[in-house]
Amino acid sequence: MSIWDYSGWGDENFLKNSIGKKLCIYCGSRLYKFPKKQIEKLNQHMYDTHKWRTSMDAKEYEGGLIFKDEFEDDWMYTFRIEGLTIRICPSCGWWWSERTEITNWPYEVEKVGVASILKNFDSLSTFEPIEEVTNYLMAKYEYRHHIEPEKFENVVASIYNGLGFKTRVTSYHKDNGIDIYMDGDDDKLIGVQVKRYKNKIKTEYIRSFGGALMINDCTEGVFITTSNYQKGCELTAKKFEERGKPIKLVNAENLFDALKISKINSFDNSIDKFINMKEIKYSHLKTIRRDSIP
Ligand SMILES: [Zn+2]
Repeated sequence: MSIWDYSGWGDENFLKNSIGKKLCIYCGSRLYKFPKKQIEKLNQHMYDTHKWRTSMDAKEYEGGLIFKDEFEDDWMYTFRIEGLTIRICPSCGWWWSERTEITNWPYEVEKVGVASILKNFDSLSTFEPIEEVTNYLMAKYEYRHHIEPEKFENVVASIYNGLGFKTRVTSYHKDNGIDIYMDGDDDKLIGVQVKRYKNKIKTEYIRSFGGALMINDCTEGVFITTSNYQKGCELTAKKFEERGKPIKLVNAENLFDALKISKINSFDNSIDKFINMKEIKYSHLKTIRRDSIP
């Protein structure tokens, strides 16, 4: 299942506000435009499927498809697509697409478009794969408070995977104060604690985390929260650093930035996902021309 609805039934305003955008309307990232070669691959696939669906004899003509009229034994122009554009967000996966369709006899030339819409969820606790959960977080970051703490540890691990770290999530109930282990450069063992909290983190949390780093032989630590830190946390972290156990404090804003970089790093820019999306439906945007051309 996807977090996006592709059915094209969004209201007209949503389409109008989406199509042509260069920045993601959900997360603000710069959209990726599929290059011509990839678009041609998609067009080819569409023509092939179209040919397969109809029993009429079909052939390509001027970049479109023509069919042999059963009764007239004549080739008629029925379907052509021009200027297909797709832009996708590398961070959250939102996209829009626009194309010109030339259909029916006499020629009808119209612009059609589609933009994905974020679905609403009460819970993403059983949602797989984790990439979809992180996409959802990018698009709707306030949702971080609705993800179960246990699931959230996996989300954080996947963020750090995208940043190039090897991660290991510990057993949720007996973790000895370390939620995730990460392997850093030069044999560093980084301990991570994740607190999916709405309230600010108190200094005593940092103190006990520092203790957990000692017990578990970590060389350094990263404390992550979905909120922020009380005054004094930074000073406590500094004290641990002076004693050889640096602790990095990551707040909601820092985590969002890390998520964004991680998503862009692991963005898959192949158009194949569009080839397999059967449920995409383009909606009419405007009629350009309706007349007969010999
Ligand atoms: Zn986005």
